[in-house]
Amino acid sequence: MEKEQFTTTGTAKDSTGRKLSDPQKTIEIIKKYNFNFQKKFGQNFLIDSHVLHKIIAGAHVSKDDMVLEIGPGIGTMTQYLAEAARQVVAVEIDRNLIPVLGETLAGYDNVTVINEDILKLDLTELARKYNDGKPIKVVANLPYYITTPIIMGLFESHVPVDNVTVMVQKEVAKRMEALPGSKDYGALSVAVQYYAKPYIVANVPRNCFMPRPNVDSAVIRLTCHEAPPVNTPDEHRMFRIVRAAFNQRRKTLVNALNNSPELTLHKEDVQKALETMGLSMTVRGEALTLQQFAKLSELLPG
Ligand code: SAM
Repeated sequence: MEKEQFTTTGTAKDSTGRKLSDPQKTIEIIKKYNFNFQKKFGQNFLIDSHVLHKIIAGAHVSKDDMVLEIGPGIGTMTQYLAEAARQVVAVEIDRNLIPVLGETLAGYDNVTVINEDILKLDLTELARKYNDGKPIKVVANLPYYITTPIIMGLFESHVPVDNVTVMVQKEVAKRMEALPGSKDYGALSVAVQYYAKPYIVANVPRNCFMPRPNVDSAVIRLTCHEAPPVNTPDEHRMFRIVRAAFNQRRKTLVNALNNSPELTLHKEDVQKALETMGLSMTVRGEALTLQQFAKLSELLPG
C-alpha cells in the first residue's frame, strides 16, 4: 500500500533556523535539489507565514491531534503542523520531493512521510494505525485538479474526521458554503453541507504562492457533523436527485428530474411530491434546501 515511507528522527531544525515560508529559503531548497515544478501535480508552494498561521489556527490544531497533510510539497506547512500537532502523517505523490522532505523535516520526530497517491490510500486504516481510529484532522493546500474527489472521497468513505481545513480555489470555497438563492449554490454545496459545516477562514491572493497560480484561493474549514443534519433512507439516491436538479439548473425541477437519464421519474410523480411539500410546480432545484431535497427523495417513488 505504501510505496516509501519514513519517519523523521532528527533533532535540529535547519542550519540557518529559517523556515520554508521565507521565500529565499524556498528558492534555496528548490535550487539545491534542482527541483522542477510539476503542473500536473498542482504544485504551488506557500511562501507566506501569515497565511500558514491562519491555516493552523483555523483548523484548531492542538497537541492532542493527529493531522493528515495531503501533498506536503517541500514541507512548508508540515513544519508548522509538526509544531502544533502531536503527530503528522504527510502523503506526497511526487517521489522527487521525498529527499527534500528528508532534509526539511529532519528536525521533527513526529512526522511520517508516505510517498503515495492520496486517492489510493485506505484512510480509515491510516486513522486506525496512527490515531487508534479516533477522528483525525485533515489539513492541506490541495492540488486543485483533485479537490472534489479528495474531499468527497473522505466524506463518502466515512473516514473518522473531525475537520478538513483546506486551501482550494476561491470559487470552489464559495460554492461549498453557498445557500439556496445564491448563484454559487449547486450540487457541491448540498453534498458538502450534508457531511459538514463550512466556514471560510481566509481569502488568499495568488502572490502567496511560488509559482503564482492563475486563480485566487481561499482556506475553508469543513467541520464534520456527528450525525447528518437530515434523515434520508438512501443518501446515494438523494444525491442522484440533487445532481439531476442542478444538471439543468435553468429548467424547472419537474423538467430537470423528468429529463434525467440517471432517474426514472414521471412528471406526475414529481408534481405530486412538490404539491405535498407545498412547493410551486415551476420551482427550480436551486431554490431547495438540503432538508427539502431529503424530503423530496423520500416522497418520490423508486
Ligand atoms: N503543502 C505544500 C505547500 O503548501 O507549500 C504544497 C502544496 S501544492 C498546492 C500540492 C501538493 O500536493 C504538491 O506537493 C503535489 O506534488 C501534491 N500532490 C498532488 N497530487 C497528489 C496526490 N494525488 N496525492 C498526494 N499528493 C499529491
